Amino acid sequence: MSVLPVEPLGQSSVIERLAAPHSGPVPFSVEFFPPRSAEEESRLWHAVRVFERMGPAFVSLTYGAGGSTRDRTVRIAGELATSTTLTTVAHLTAVNHSVDELRGLVGAYADKGITNLLALRGDPPGDPLGEWVPHPEGVQYATELVELIGTLGDFHTGVASFPEGHHRAPDLASDTANLVRKLRAGAEYSISQIFFDTDDFLRLRDRVVAADAEQGAKPLIPGIMPITSLQSVRRMVELSGSVLPERVADRLAAAAGDGPEEDRAAVRAVGIDLCTEMSERLIAEGVPCLHFCSLNFARATSEVLERIGVDTRGALAPA
Ligand SMILES: Cc1cc2nc3c(=O)[nH]c(=O)nc-3n(C[C@H](O)[C@H](O)[C@H](O)COP(=O)(O)OP(=O)(O)OC[C@H]3O[C@@H](n4cnc5c(N)ncnc54)[C@H](O)[C@@H]3O)c2cc1C
Repeated sequence: MSVLPVEPLGQSSVIERLAAPHSGPVPFSVEFFPPRSAEEESRLWHAVRVFERMGPAFVSLTYGAGGSTRDRTVRIAGELATSTTLTTVAHLTAVNHSVDELRGLVGAYADKGITNLLALRGDPPGDPLGEWVPHPEGVQYATELVELIGTLGDFHTGVASFPEGHHRAPDLASDTANLVRKLRAGAEYSISQIFFDTDDFLRLRDRVVAADAEQGAKPLIPGIMPITSLQSVRRMVELSGSVLPERVADRLAAAAGDGPEEDRAAVRAVGIDLCTEMSERLIAEGVPCLHFCSLNFARATSEVLERIGVDTRGALAPA
């Protein structure tokens, strides 16, 4: 039995948005994170307004565990959905939540008109690579979250995928089987973890199609980002249990130089080149969308979008 209203709540689904007209060679989408301070919040809204002018297929907002973060995340997601023209995908994780709380959270999103959810297991708070301990009345895997959301009303659910394999999966075959399981459970698409070797993403796509052609036909959206700091990207990659390909690390290190501080301008320039090159290859490979991790900054991603032919309509002008 459905516990939430099932009438259409206003926002298009991600699948509908991917099929809608767009100005560039391929639709694009943007990931934001919930701001932790007033200053971060004003930066977020600036970025949101810049991207809004470029017509992304959708935007997504990540989710962190913890009471105050949760309330802020729900509020910001609601404002994205109601105060902008943007189709909003709210990430949802199982960390520290009972099934009842997860139901409540889905209901809170539905109240704000959000029907697009990204169902994730999440990582242990504080140490993403630490031991995963499910909530005693919660769920163990993202598949169960997809199934739970499916029982709650007319939602459109996406899931995570991992071009290099999830760091807890024993091998790539198990990782692929898990993605297929999540898609069979009702997920309509997946968004990949950030990667820097396009071949990893293309091999994942091949594996999913080989494992299950029907599920493999669902959109597999690559997650990418323009690197603007070598130190930050190294940390990010380490926390996600993946690696920076040597070829990419060498190019960035050469730009960073030998000084005590990395040459941020030179790293940024290489980062934008790398992201543009990846985008062009992914477009040539027929991806359904490019999902940019913006870190709540608009400029670097906008430069990549402009280079690949998205109509940036003055979005790059100084604020
Ligand atoms: C696009 C994207 C967005 C993200 N957004 C967020 C966010 O907003 N907040 C956040 O905290 N984290 C986020 N993450 C990180 C994500 O939560 C972690 O990577 C997490 O470790 C895995 O989540 P999952 O949903 O893929 O988990 P699952 O699909 O549940 O997989 C977790 C592990 O369990 C294994 N597994 C799954 N089912 C089974 C089974 N039946 N038997 C045995 N093993 C199984 C899988 O192979 C995998 O190793 C995001 C990741 C991506 C790629």
